[in-house]
Amino acid sequence: MNKFFLTTPIYYVNDVPHIGHAYTTVACDVLARWYRLQGREVFFLTGTDEHGTKIARAAAAHNKDPQAYCDEISAQYQQSWKELSISNDAFIRTTSPAHIRAVQHLLKLLWDKGVIFQGRYQGKYCVQCERFYTDEELIGGLCPDHRIPPEVQSEDNYFLRLSHFKDDLLNAITQEDHPNHFKIYPLERRNEVIGKLKQDVNDVSISRATLAWGIPLPWDRSQTTYVWVDALVNYLSAIGYPDDKPRVDQWWPADLHLMAKDILWFHTVIWPAMLMAVGLPVPKKVFAHGFFTVNGQKMSKNMGNVVRPGELVKEYGIDGARYLMLSAFPFGADGDFTADTMKTTYNAALANKLGNLISRALNMVDKYCEGKVPTGTGRTLAQAVLEDLKPIEVQLDHLQFHLALGALMAAADRVNGFIENKAPWKLAKESPEAVKEVLWEVSLSLKAIVFYMIPFFPETAPLVWQRLGQTDDMKARARAFFDKPSSLDLPAGQAIQHGVPLFPRK
Ligand SMILES: [Zn+2]
Repeated sequence: MNKFFLTTPIYYVNDVPHIGHAYTTVACDVLARWYRLQGREVFFLTGTDEHGTKIARAAAAHNKDPQAYCDEISAQYQQSWKELSISNDAFIRTTSPAHIRAVQHLLKLLWDKGVIFQGRYQGKYCVQCERFYTDEELIGGLCPDHRIPPEVQSEDNYFLRLSHFKDDLLNAITQEDHPNHFKIYPLERRNEVIGKLKQDVNDVSISRATLAWGIPLPWDRSQTTYVWVDALVNYLSAIGYPDDKPRVDQWWPADLHLMAKDILWFHTVIWPAMLMAVGLPVPKKVFAHGFFTVNGQKMSKNMGNVVRPGELVKEYGIDGARYLMLSAFPFGADGDFTADTMKTTYNAALANKLGNLISRALNMVDKYCEGKVPTGTGRTLAQAVLEDLKPIEVQLDHLQFHLALGALMAAADRVNGFIENKAPWKLAKESPEAVKEVLWEVSLSLKAIVFYMIPFFPETAPLVWQRLGQTDDMKARARAFFDKPSSLDLPAGQAIQHGVPLFPRK
């Protein structure tokens, strides 16, 4: 049970990446990096969703062949994730032949199990969302997300008997001892799903008759797979389903599906139903984060307020961008990003607090300890800092990124306070030995802080490590530390290094 398989949703290539995609992906990356440090074998999956009406139309609008269009946008996602130091282990694309095979295999199994039937569908379909809406779901007759009138579509297609799984799904969510028990977070979202499941659950259409840009059904080539069903299978195709059974057994079920709350129904109802129908285990945990606005307004191309990940990185650096996204408001709640708050937060937390602590501590080691990590015996400060940092372990299990970052800043505050209190610059006149003891405590505490910085600050943590004069492998040291925190120690005598400010003030 040492493995951890976590996923972002795969992103739809009708648009290039924005801060919304980055938000989910950075959160997932922090967890992936964290669990690797905890000694777990991690598989972190992300990718792009590339079929459907919207893609075909977007490609046509750009005068491009759909595949060429998908290649182009998918490459932009991969580039964006590089720019944010995302450590995904795989990048799945739904136009890859292996994925297409997996979808057809799973659909054929569902067909053979008799949970798919042919019927006539008429409904109101939002092309932007790629989904049908019931009248209750529409707001003033318009798509609740896009505020555009849905198209009435009617066609013969195939349906999944979702209604048959209603009770089993309810039990799986609510009963801990159910063989397919799974968790939905936050609890508010879980209650919504339970509430909806207790009402009538409609069978769901899984194919389209009119669309060429999709995966043909294996038993009826005149129909293509509904893009949502196609997309969900990525979590299996990426680990070699159905051909590589040992690999599937190694990783499945997923330990965590992460996403924004608008696609929770697909992940907590349709996807588990598909899996139950073919006798595969369901994912263990589904977590839906909230929506956010930018400067108080919903991000949209029309508003011209779409924030691209690259813009944030350019302004605040990789680690600054990551910090600002995850510290702004609780993951799971709705929130707002404003340019002013970002700048203020960056300066207060990263430039003035964390960045300043590191540079002043190293400057003092330079000045009072001949530029070498001093020897000492006191561990009181480091002990207190470890107490500040310890809650991060539970907070990350609960995806409370803002609390975890708060704990990190509290530890930085404590060390800053210690320095103020001990005032090495005064002490130096009285007792050079006492100064060394103070700076030993500070340096040891910084080392503890670095270990907890690794998942959040993949660029800065190695730099701090280096500047502390450490030459051995940081991640290996961190794993040993998390295995046995009492092993925290700092070899003395190593020469500290200098460099540019880690978080330059804006
Ligand atoms: Zn819509």
